[in-house]
Amino acid sequence: MGAAGRTNSPLEYSSETRKTTLSALKQGQQFDAIVIGGGITGSGTANALSATGAKILLLERGDFASGTSSASSKLIHGGLRYLQQGRIFLTRDLIREREYLLRNTNIVRRIDFRILIDDYSASRTAVRFGLFLYSLLAGRPHIPKFIRNRGEYPAGIRGYFEFYDAVTDDSTLVVHNILSAVMKGSVCLNYCEVTGISAGSITEVRFTDRVSGNAFSVSGKVVVNCAGPWADSMLEIAGKPSNGARLSGGSHIVVDISHYKGMQALAFFSHIDGRQMFIIPRESVLIIGTTDSIVHSAEMRKPTPEEIDYILESARRIIPSINRDSILTSFYGVRPLLGMGNDPGKITRNFSILQEGNILSVYGVKLTDFRTASKKVAGRVARILGKKAPGNDEPVINYRRPADPKIGYYVKHECPVTIEDITRRRFPVDIYSPSSRENVIAQCKEFVQNGLLLPEPIE
Ligand SMILES: Cc1cc2nc3c(=O)[nH]c(=O)nc-3n(C[C@H](O)[C@H](O)[C@H](O)COP(=O)(O)OP(=O)(O)OC[C@H]3O[C@@H](n4cnc5c(N)ncnc54)[C@H](O)[C@@H]3O)c2cc1C
Repeated sequence: MGAAGRTNSPLEYSSETRKTTLSALKQGQQFDAIVIGGGITGSGTANALSATGAKILLLERGDFASGTSSASSKLIHGGLRYLQQGRIFLTRDLIREREYLLRNTNIVRRIDFRILIDDYSASRTAVRFGLFLYSLLAGRPHIPKFIRNRGEYPAGIRGYFEFYDAVTDDSTLVVHNILSAVMKGSVCLNYCEVTGISAGSITEVRFTDRVSGNAFSVSGKVVVNCAGPWADSMLEIAGKPSNGARLSGGSHIVVDISHYKGMQALAFFSHIDGRQMFIIPRESVLIIGTTDSIVHSAEMRKPTPEEIDYILESARRIIPSINRDSILTSFYGVRPLLGMGNDPGKITRNFSILQEGNILSVYGVKLTDFRTASKKVAGRVARILGKKAPGNDEPVINYRRPADPKIGYYVKHECPVTIEDITRRRFPVDIYSPSSRENVIAQCKEFVQNGLLLPEPIE
């Protein structure tokens, strides 16, 4: 796999490649580092570590990005909200990353935002000052102008300020990191669930291939626990004390774009509890969210009726035409945070790396700061392994999709195992273009027939 990746032609990385890789894996085979979890934290870490020349294995229980990393607001942002909370250094670092990703990748793009001012928002002066600071931190200081609502929004909205941030597709960002790691020689396997960890000077990791049911045992000098909301469960499996991660659930709804005439994304404040929310136009839909509440289980579920009502009620002040019948789909994810308190809005949004023996656990990595976090984790691992830390620009995303790839391209080069992996995480029509779903599924049938895709999700 690694050797093929060093050429310029796209690497073949299909479910067949996955099968071959698994059958070549020897029981007890040793790796320098085993990364658990194929979300943004694990994929970024594997990508950064791959550049050190270390021998890396990444194991993901579901598909790549099947956890929180495909259920986010898909923003690469400095976090205006964090600025309101006085987290200036966090905002500065996130803005730097936003600018880096805008400059150096083709999977992050700028989006213009309007922040709406009404009785429930912060005051005009406070928002103007916040946005000035935001532009200053980005190195382009300007004092934003208040623009009056001239009928584009319902009467309660007095007007707005303009600013910009960036958007990506979260699962695409993960898949690009996975493929970049694979191109640098790492072994990254989806549908491989870690079932046991025996910590020692060399740690044994047991896992099950959820496609064949076969069990494997491998060993690693270092284990990097990037299981996001499940990171504490991994420590439990390893017989280590929990780090006490706080989990905060967040839901989004998706409605047709015809409900909104503008091009800009909207930031507004919910009249229910004053939280900042977003309406983000993407392809043929609007993504609206999010909730933020402490939960006690990491399991992925659908948004509850109460969460949906909260989002709908909040957003209907801006777009009155939407209602329950407008919802095309909805999704839910869990933020893995480390910190105290019951108000998720107040728990630190900085990432943390905690070490217990040769197991490193990583919490709180956002899409936006995945590079900073991955580089830091990889540096710590490289030190333990006695290798040179990854270079300043790592993790470099050197995988590039061709323009307008066909379904067959994803199948052959991005290791989907089921049709759902295509429709949710390689070519995510389920979210951005639900009306194209049946057509994409029909195109997948050919690959089901030749054994490259499974028709049903793996439960
Ligand atoms: C509602 C919401 C909106 C957000 N919006 C944004 C945003 O706009 N911008 C931004 O920068 N950040 C955002 N975030 C934050 C960001 O999405 C998350 O912090 C990030 O995706 C977490 O990534 P992760 O890799 O740590 O966790 P995950 O993506 O959950 O990855 C962990 C992986 O570990 C795997 N795993 C679990 N157990 C095992 C096992 N036994 N064996 C193998 N694998 C296992 C899981 O299947 C999962 O894929 C948002 C978060 C939420 C919840």
